[in-house]
Amino acid sequence: MNAITAIPQGLDLRAEIDRLRKERNAVILGHYYQKPEIQDLSDFVGDSLELSRRAAETDADVIAFCGVRFMAETAKILSPEKIVVLPDMDAGCSLEDSCPPAQFKAFREAHPDHIALSYINCSAEVKALSDIIVTSSSAEKILAQIPKDQKIIFGPDKHLGGYLKRKLGRDMLLWPGVCIVHEAFSETELEKLKLQHPGAPVAAHPECPSHIVDLADYVGSTSGILDYARHMEGGTLIVATEPHIIHQMQKAMPHKNFIGAPGADGNCNCNICPYMALNTLEKLYLALRDLQPRIEMDEGLRLGAKKSLDRMLEMASGTVGQGDLGNR
Ligand code: SF4
Repeated sequence: MNAITAIPQGLDLRAEIDRLRKERNAVILGHYYQKPEIQDLSDFVGDSLELSRRAAETDADVIAFCGVRFMAETAKILSPEKIVVLPDMDAGCSLEDSCPPAQFKAFREAHPDHIALSYINCSAEVKALSDIIVTSSSAEKILAQIPKDQKIIFGPDKHLGGYLKRKLGRDMLLWPGVCIVHEAFSETELEKLKLQHPGAPVAAHPECPSHIVDLADYVGSTSGILDYARHMEGGTLIVATEPHIIHQMQKAMPHKNFIGAPGADGNCNCNICPYMALNTLEKLYLALRDLQPRIEMDEGLRLGAKKSLDRMLEMASGTVGQGDLGNR
């Protein structure tokens, strides 16, 4: 019998999670791409860096991160004194998987005159091998502060890197990683959907390939897309990012209509992140009860990764550059 099947039948999971949250002095973080039932019981719902920063500001002893592994690692990097649990340690990310540290190190060594900007969706090891971490909100502002003649490696997301290259006219060497979720949107199906909803704008995450971004009225992060939804004039928005974000949109704006952009088969099920979907109420309950699975990190690695994260925070709080990309 595994731990999940051993949970007593009829146990009120929400009540137990609440009890354990208090008993453990825990803060529960829910990413925008989590199932609605997890978002609804989280102390904070948001995007990855924002969640880690908010948790670091609390006096909680435990962070239960309902998201994916690189996000929980970021929480640990910022809060080394706290216990950080991830309900399912297999909750990875195709971008992280695309960029094994040894290969990334070799790539860097092959290009010694380049600095490395890495999207936050990467392992702690790759963060430690990078010069500056970026989010989709900070990338533009940070790039604007780097001298034009400085050669740059951008990884691991080739679509975000390609978007920045096109928008800023900046040449960069791109690592060939992709987000399997954002890659699954279909241009043909999106065009059909636009015809069915004339006048409805499309908001897309820059992890989408260029043929989807080119159809968008707004390009930005999850937080940026939420903000766009709040301020748009019309009542209908087509959303080209992981569809669980729509839960927050509908809660905040019940009078508006949000439609998930379709995948190739005409429905958006293929755009649900399979890694995020591994987290369940049962696993969250077990994580709080057993304080496992836990993120453990060598202090040298943590400090190496923190250095590139800190550089991002310093540069992002500067005054150079005005990106409208949101935070991811
Ligand atoms: S949505 Fe894409 S980038 Fe985000 S965790 Fe899933 S695979 Fe990774």
